[in-house]
Amino acid sequence: MEKERKLIIAGNWKMNKTVAEAHDLVRGLKLELANIKDIDVVICPPFTALSEVSKEVIESDIRLGAQNMSEHSGGAYTGDISVLMLKEFLVRYVILGHSERREYHKESDALINIKTKAAHAASLRPIVCVGETLEERESGRFEEVITTQVKGCLAGLEKNQMEETIIAYEPVWAIGTGKTASAEQAQEVHALIRKTVAGLFDEATAKRVRIQYGGSVKPANARELMGQPDIDGALVGGAALEVRSFSDIVKNCLN
Ligand code: PEP
Repeated sequence: MEKERKLIIAGNWKMNKTVAEAHDLVRGLKLELANIKDIDVVICPPFTALSEVSKEVIESDIRLGAQNMSEHSGGAYTGDISVLMLKEFLVRYVILGHSERREYHKESDALINIKTKAAHAASLRPIVCVGETLEERESGRFEEVITTQVKGCLAGLEKNQMEETIIAYEPVWAIGTGKTASAEQAQEVHALIRKTVAGLFDEATAKRVRIQYGGSVKPANARELMGQPDIDGALVGGAALEVRSFSDIVKNCLN
């Protein structure tokens, strides 16, 4: 598949996998995805499995991501994880502002913006999630919702930081529901996100930013989604929990 930007496909394991299960999954992925260099492949296990998984990916092309991090660098923040702690395990990416964090932990665009800057300050690449709810889509307000989220989460970054930021468009109504946005629906929002980034920064910067689609991505729909001009990868939940489905998503998006 000829793409302007290198595809990046990330698996978000969420609150799944014991250490032993994580070990099995990463070993399987290493075998299936050995020598894939044309797509950036990232896996995001739960914190408790980062140590074990990092030992496995160290000599592979698979990169490690985390699912969240604290905006603070350390101290009295019970239950939180700092960027320094993530870096001990060779974590290179961090998912920020996932809709589940926004919903269950009340994370705001302002907080996600602070976390995004903290990630960059430590040379971690943030995967910043945005997306509208079903009600926001059906009422026709989704364009306003998405632009507000993009501006709120990304304001004040340096241009080079923006270029290293991955944006994940995840319509909330498509996450874990089996409902995927059509390739056209997704492309429409991805183009809007790129236009918003161009307005905040400039056209050249916006052209370099990779925008992932997330929401019930499966081996059967990944290639069509990736065929859209402004879709530069996928953030995968459910289908990232098994070797076969995740590796097939990646392979189906190769040339
Ligand atoms: C996600 O939570 O990031 C996600 C896209 O989940 P799923 O693929 O299961 O819809």
